[in-house]
Amino acid sequence: MRSLSLGRIQDVEIKIHPTFGLVIPWVFFNWGFDGVGLVSAAGAVLFGLILVALVFGCVLLHELGHSLMAMQYGIRVHDITLSVIGGVARTELIPTRPRTEVLIALAGPAVNVAIFLGLLPLLLLFGVLSGLEWPRGYVTQIFEVSPAGLVFALFYANVMIVLFNLLPAFPLDGGRVLRAGLSAVVGREPGTRVAAIVGQALALGLAVLGLWLRTFTLPLIALFVAVVAQAEWRAVRLEGAMRRLRVGQFALWDMGGIAPHHPLTYALRGGPRDVAVTDNGRVVGMLWRNQLLRALHGGASGRTVADVMDTEVVTADVDDSVYDVQQRMNQLNRWAFPVIEDGQYRGIFTADRFVHVYRQLAPSPLRPRSSSGFAATVNHLLRAWTR
Ligand SMILES: [Zn+2]
Repeated sequence: MRSLSLGRIQDVEIKIHPTFGLVIPWVFFNWGFDGVGLVSAAGAVLFGLILVALVFGCVLLHELGHSLMAMQYGIRVHDITLSVIGGVARTELIPTRPRTEVLIALAGPAVNVAIFLGLLPLLLLFGVLSGLEWPRGYVTQIFEVSPAGLVFALFYANVMIVLFNLLPAFPLDGGRVLRAGLSAVVGREPGTRVAAIVGQALALGLAVLGLWLRTFTLPLIALFVAVVAQAEWRAVRLEGAMRRLRVGQFALWDMGGIAPHHPLTYALRGGPRDVAVTDNGRVVGMLWRNQLLRALHGGASGRTVADVMDTEVVTADVDDSVYDVQQRMNQLNRWAFPVIEDGQYRGIFTADRFVHVYRQLAPSPLRPRSSSGFAATVNHLLRAWTR
């Protein structure tokens, strides 16, 4: 069950989730019995397919609105996935300032507002020309299987997309605005907690409403909202915990690193790994595992650590938070940092150590990125999110 890639827009990959296929039987069910008079059932189904394609086009534009705004603030956007319950833009997980979060959240609905405002003159023109009775005539047009009905339905769909997304149910756009507002006052962690609780309460309401209206999409969306709200809350709580932990607590002494004058083979004691190169307690470089192995492959004869080491010194301070160091690991693509205190080497903090800390904080392991399906989508959000 892998998502199908449709291509790229502005370097953002557009994908379709396998569940999107459910749209087809739904169209047949919804429009298949609509054929009356001149319009055959096949014509009605064709109408349904065109309408659904246009509506999902608007959903895609909505997600692109979020994505382009996020990119304005230097946030990387991995991809946009369309599924049967809507679209999700997966962006880099970096906490943004409340103002930025609000702008990114509102950029999506703003696109749909622009679309329905653009359609409005068309509707009014049609309404006046065909003498539609206000408001009944305009409402019934939404269900007409005709070119005019298509425009009316598209207008209605965009209004609904805006209203629905502005519900203050985190992680919907309105919920993000709520979270940003709360964060500005009480801080990011409590703000997310409250927004997630409000989101889950509203999700429950949506599920009940959906069951009452006998529609399967609302309960599905409600489940999605509830699960993602919980996942985001956990991600933010995890982030908070990692911000409080000092990297010094988790640095490994690893025999105090290795000296530059040591022979290369000596670096292999205790197995190949990334080792800090220290001279009189000061960090002078890094001996990366892969460089060491490559050098040894070509024959170590007489070479020393100094010949192979990376002399660019990038260190972390014992008081840096685990979170900050992990962010720097991602940014700099360096998977180990020598940790220093007052200029003296205190140990090494590696990506493996980070995973160790992470496992302790989040006992339920995350599945790898390659897996797909609903749980994976949620995990993606957890890992990558995304506003
Ligand atoms: Zn949105």
